[in-house]
Amino acid sequence: MRNFGYTVARTPEDAVRIAAGTRNSTFVSGGTDLLNLMRDGAQAHDHLVDINRLDLAGIAVDRQALRIGALARMRHVAEHPLVRRESPVLSEALLASASPQVRNMAAIGGNLLQRTRCGYFRDAGSACNKRVPGSGCPAITGYNRGHAILGGSDHCIATHPSDLAVALTALDATVHLLGPDGARAVPIADFYLLPGSTPEREVALRPGELITRVDVPRTSLAAQSRYLKLRDRATFEFAVVSVAAALQMTGRTVRDARLAFGGIGTRPWRDTRAEAVLRGRPLTETTIAEAGRVLVRDAKPHNDNRFKVELVQRALARVLSELGGVR
Ligand code: SF4
Repeated sequence: MRNFGYTVARTPEDAVRIAAGTRNSTFVSGGTDLLNLMRDGAQAHDHLVDINRLDLAGIAVDRQALRIGALARMRHVAEHPLVRRESPVLSEALLASASPQVRNMAAIGGNLLQRTRCGYFRDAGSACNKRVPGSGCPAITGYNRGHAILGGSDHCIATHPSDLAVALTALDATVHLLGPDGARAVPIADFYLLPGSTPEREVALRPGELITRVDVPRTSLAAQSRYLKLRDRATFEFAVVSVAAALQMTGRTVRDARLAFGGIGTRPWRDTRAEAVLRGRPLTETTIAEAGRVLVRDAKPHNDNRFKVELVQRALARVLSELGGVR
């Protein structure tokens, strides 16, 4: 690991000012992903701005939204009674993430900004367009079992690893930012970017911007939500396929639905077309299967991940059947 400078910020404005005025800097909170990347040479910074002392760890609810501070730790959010009551999918996604030790350390803002688990990206000796733009993407013709079947480009097919981001995508969350030009709010659907020809750019953050809070709208949908994560082992493992689903039912009929997926897209993958298949119709095996077919209609699987096309449809069927009581 190469040498870097280190400053402890006292206020969010202080943190942004230091980051904006220091070349090649980044913020650090739990450091559970960042320090591994720096140690392995997959990411390098000249300066770290420690934000752990900022007053951004609160969790509150008002009439409009559940508001989660960016420095709230994963464990705290997962176990918080407000989160469990208002948006169980968030709690379930967090409890399915990482290990208890990591959940104690890692903050919500950092969780949303964690980098892909693509092995080529994390190996500083490999080519990788995301790490070194223009160097190539060996995953497209190489080992791609964990990679995306939706949203990929000729430049990158990596998935985003955050379970929480998938759940927040299903619930139409908003990410609040503070930067050198002031505060702004970005819908999570616009926060994560498709790789296109610039896979090194993953999120809509501007230089020096800090995530301060995430807001989740209070809806009856959010209160009826679930997260299912399929992975290669039962703990401390990233999703092969995951589903965040929320349903609002009147009797057997779906009044409204939200569906987002992990492990299949190059960003947390929302599918409004699959939601539209369900809306206004009885929740049956037939309508669920139709929604699944719509979801994978544009899938472009690769050599090692063709199984995800069927697996994600089965995962969707399981979540919706459990949520909606389909026998
Ligand atoms: Fe790099 Fe993306 Fe290709 Fe992985 S899939 S090697 S992250 S460019």
